[in-house]
Amino acid sequence: MSPTSNSTHTTNDTLAKARIAVLGYGSQGRAHALNLRDSGLDVVVGLRPGGPTWAKAEADGFKVVEPAHAVINADLVAVLTPDMVQPKLYTEAIAPNIKPGAALLFAHGFNVHFKQIDPRKDIDVILVAPKGPGALVRSEYERGRGVPCIWAVQQDVSGHAEAKAKAYADGIGGTRAMLIKTDFKEETETDLFGEQAVLCGGASSLVQAGFETLVEAGYQPEIAYYEVLHELKLIVDLFYEGGITKMLEFVSETAQYGDYVSGPRVIDAGVKARMKGVLTDIQDGTFAKNWIAEYNAGLPNYKKYKQADLDHPVEQVGKQLRARMAWLQAGAAKAAGEPLKKVG
Ligand code: NAD
Ligand code: MG
Repeated sequence: MSPTSNSTHTTNDTLAKARIAVLGYGSQGRAHALNLRDSGLDVVVGLRPGGPTWAKAEADGFKVVEPAHAVINADLVAVLTPDMVQPKLYTEAIAPNIKPGAALLFAHGFNVHFKQIDPRKDIDVILVAPKGPGALVRSEYERGRGVPCIWAVQQDVSGHAEAKAKAYADGIGGTRAMLIKTDFKEETETDLFGEQAVLCGGASSLVQAGFETLVEAGYQPEIAYYEVLHELKLIVDLFYEGGITKMLEFVSETAQYGDYVSGPRVIDAGVKARMKGVLTDIQDGTFAKNWIAEYNAGLPNYKKYKQADLDHPVEQVGKQLRARMAWLQAGAAKAAGEPLKKVG
């Protein structure tokens, strides 16, 4: 994408008279619905009756109805339920009810890109994905700021699909920060790669391997925990605030020298080659096919893998140590900054 396609300032009133249906009231749904309403837009929330977030949306003052009902009169339908329930939701509640010329909006391109949802040809299909968890999307908006958003148009029948995506990004506060143009393929593939290779998969496997290496060499698990897991936060905070440059400024010369000579020994060309393998599986649909099959089979392997992570010794020792660090307890953590419940 060329940098000229990115903008820092566009506001438009494309959605001023529109009815927006927000389906799902979790991490993203709640933040979007509240921000859109505070931006003066007309929002209705669509949820399953008896679902866990119905009461919460009502307590926040929204009109809450079943998804199909929310869709009927909507000019824009934001699909903010978990990705794996979206195909059924589309077939049952959206496809039979969405108005011709209305917009179907996603915050992640998975189902459209991997063809689990084949949107009707008479509607706009757009994407607006904030680059942050819902809690931050809300708290930044409340401070008069915003979280950068990436946006895309997959299908434009109204001739206004781009304006609608940008107006939605305005409404949730994204334009106050930055909008970056993307497409469904780029958003989906990079999002999956990031969480698999670096953020969730890469980082947790790196921590476990480091912990095992120290413990197997006879060091105390408590000390190993601090060195390879706990202190990771300090490093990531420095990355977040000022990149690798700031991290290097704030660690000792000894730590820097060790970084330069040992980092590439651990994360070597073999790791990068395997990252390319992970990316290939994402690009050619292998990952999506396996994940959908796993989900439909009732998550047998997922549950096993998850249990193994929960049973890892770093978790056992971590639980005991975290209980002794008062500032980590819920209230204190919240005061110090929203805990990141989830990343996309
Ligand atoms: P979530 O799990 O926090 O919330 C899901 C909501 O959908 C809940 O209100 C749940 O009750 C409701 N729901 C579940 N099944 C439903 C159904 N069949 N019908 C109606 N409602 C139903 O989800 P989330 O993390 O906010 O993710 C929503 C979308 O946003 C996903 O596409 C995700 O990839 C994307 N996204 C998430 C993040 C993030 O930080 N969490 C970031 C960017 C994009
Ligand atoms: Mg993701």
